[in-house]
Amino acid sequence: MARIVMKFGGTSMAGIERIRRVAQIVKQQADAGHEVAVVVSAMAGDTDRLVNFCREASSLYDPAEYDVVVSSGEQVTSGLLAIALQSLGAKARSWLGWQMPVRTIEAHSKARIQTIDAEKLSASMASGEIAIIPGFQGISDEGRITTLGRGGSDTSAVAIAAAVKADRCDIYTDVDGVYTTDPRIVTRARKLKKVTFEEMLELASVGAKVLQTRSVGLAMKEGVRIQVLSSFTDESTNFTADDLPGTMIVSEDEMEIEDMERKLITGIAHDKNEAKITLTRVPDKPGAVADIFEPLAEAAINVDMIIQNVGREKGETDVTFTVPSVDLDRAMQVL
Ligand code: ASP
Ligand code: MG
Repeated sequence: MARIVMKFGGTSMAGIERIRRVAQIVKQQADAGHEVAVVVSAMAGDTDRLVNFCREASSLYDPAEYDVVVSSGEQVTSGLLAIALQSLGAKARSWLGWQMPVRTIEAHSKARIQTIDAEKLSASMASGEIAIIPGFQGISDEGRITTLGRGGSDTSAVAIAAAVKADRCDIYTDVDGVYTTDPRIVTRARKLKKVTFEEMLELASVGAKVLQTRSVGLAMKEGVRIQVLSSFTDESTNFTADDLPGTMIVSEDEMEIEDMERKLITGIAHDKNEAKITLTRVPDKPGAVADIFEPLAEAAINVDMIIQNVGREKGETDVTFTVPSVDLDRAMQVL
């Protein structure tokens, strides 16, 4: 018997038919005698729709209210999965972020998890009840709903797995593992059997959509073994611990010796959601660049690539950097 956290992404949860299939996959694991907690995403497209509502309402929306709106997609799917499991005769209930609770810092729309009180959750799992947790959401010290940033359900799942000391965190998605590159673009992409945390961290941070970058960092820090697998193929629904069908994300130590001479390049990733800003005629003196990046950091805007260009006039330079395109308007305002 093992303790397993299963996470299902948006495409796996898109519609009642698919939720029924997810319920069957979950029930199989519970019937096999495992203690199971499930973390769910909103239905595919729903979070985008909710984000767009906020943008339509105001391009400078209040991030605290944005969290109230966008966290709702996961509330819907967690309740629906509980109902679907109950209709299969399983014991199941939902645990919303504030009920557990999942405590996060205040940074709305990109909060970080501080602590998870897993005591009640563990007790409920041990009693044979399937715990269903909406991913992506938490609660701040002020008692307000927070969200963990786009793709944050992966981080929720890893954090729950760490909190309940799960043997494994199975992340079910629409691809059956981690590929050398995006198989939807490159048909020759190959599935990897094992990837190290470090490699996955690198791939995710430069755009591999399969896992949220932070979830990989957290898994590495907490030693949570992740398996990435598909909820759409039959082999993924019936497997044993010795015969895992997906890609395992493991520590360097767990990489087998024969893999030590594996290729230097593990995979290639890309990202199209970056915006580029160039500030011209920045005074070329100490402190000028800090004046640009400190306010952005205070506004919790992540700056990725930074280039300081060759100066145009004497004593002046251009500074170019990228931010997530969703933060472009806010970055321009801060600047
Ligand atoms: N529903 C959220 C999003 O689309 C969180 C997630 O699915 O991981 O970003
Ligand atoms: Mg995702």
